[in-house]
Amino acid sequence: DDSVAKVDPEVAEALTDELSRQQSKLVMIASENFTPRAVLEAQGSILVNKLAEGYPGKRYCAGCENVDRIEQLAIDRAKTLFQAEHANVQPHSGAQANAAAYMALLQPGDTILGLSLDHGGHLTHGMRANFSGRFYTVVSYQVRAADSVIDMEQVARLADQHRPRLIVAGWSAYPRTIDFAAFRRVADQVGAYLLIDMAHISGLVAAGLHPNPVPYADVVTSTTHKTLAGPRGGMILCRGELADRIDRAVFPGQQAAPLAHTIAAKAVTFKIAMGEDFRDCQRRALEGADIVATRLGAPDVAATGVEVLTQGTDVHLVVLDLRKSVLSGRDAETRLYDVGITVNRNQVPFDSRPAMTSSGLRIGTSALATSGFQPEDFAEIADIIAAALRPDITESETNVLRSRVDNVAAKHPVYSSLS
Ligand code: PLP
Repeated sequence: DDSVAKVDPEVAEALTDELSRQQSKLVMIASENFTPRAVLEAQGSILVNKLAEGYPGKRYCAGCENVDRIEQLAIDRAKTLFQAEHANVQPHSGAQANAAAYMALLQPGDTILGLSLDHGGHLTHGMRANFSGRFYTVVSYQVRAADSVIDMEQVARLADQHRPRLIVAGWSAYPRTIDFAAFRRVADQVGAYLLIDMAHISGLVAAGLHPNPVPYADVVTSTTHKTLAGPRGGMILCRGELADRIDRAVFPGQQAAPLAHTIAAKAVTFKIAMGEDFRDCQRRALEGADIVATRLGAPDVAATGVEVLTQGTDVHLVVLDLRKSVLSGRDAETRLYDVGITVNRNQVPFDSRPAMTSSGLRIGTSALATSGFQPEDFAEIADIIAAALRPDITESETNVLRSRVDNVAAKHPVYSSLS
């Protein structure tokens, strides 16, 4: 017996515990999902053994004929799914996709204009401690104080003033669609490249339920593990004329050998994302987020100082604004974990609490949609969240919420075949 259980019982035990954690807690971390079994199989396949530096048909070692077939399938499917002229499926992660894209388009020291981290941007969009802030000159745009929506006038003004070589649009915690055409106009006005990081929304885009950034951007980057429900990884899409620069920036620029097993898992993910079940799932994630935003935007919740940022959502997540609440983001995260719902805190624009505590809570519906949640289940969860965030909740009320979470979770078991 050479199973994990036999060879390494400590790791096996933690894996078993993690399976039951994923099965028993409700996953509402907006960047998580449940990847299908077919994807897990590809990811855990014998392709972990294969060295394959280079690209299909242009490898630096022998024996790549099967990897070539798989990577070409992944490339072709990504191009079809997102109507892109070129796809690179090798980035090990979303951060590495962005690092490679910047390397392809910029010289060290060049100026990038991206959404500020505390206004919903990502570390790789210019945070000081990240490579993006270390190697490039960063100018950040923000959302408007009045309605928490991206201020395109400010974007245009900053672009005009600082003449960035690259404008980055995309977010990690922002509940509204972005005006891609307006970003394109600003980029054209100042002669900048436009990179759209669709890490969060790529599943919605694949399903045709969110505008596709590809026609507007020079380069589109993404993760494959959020709404897309694939393996942890990244990808880059671009116009044909940038293909060589992007490919060279990924390999040999940023990475050496690709993760052939992850590329196989990406290929399977893209195939699944072309189907009607996937589309239905993305539709329910959107519906669920709308239900959560509507319930948590109701007057009884607002009376406790809990507000819905931008008063709603266009996507798979809702950001709660707790600046007026006695609960911090961390308090709210702990409260929900205590009743069986996993979410993450984050800063909201103009947050006065420190990042570790913060005044925001990001609530996503993708994983629950994947596990089969229907509108009535999302309504129940929204109601549970509203109750759990009441400042004066008692221990016995908390116990009732725990069993309500258990009941709704039991309706939609995940990974039953793995238990
Ligand atoms: N870009 C955005 C907008 C993200 O939200 C994320 C994920 O958190 C990333 C990039 C980075 O992805 P990864 O964690 O795979 O490096």
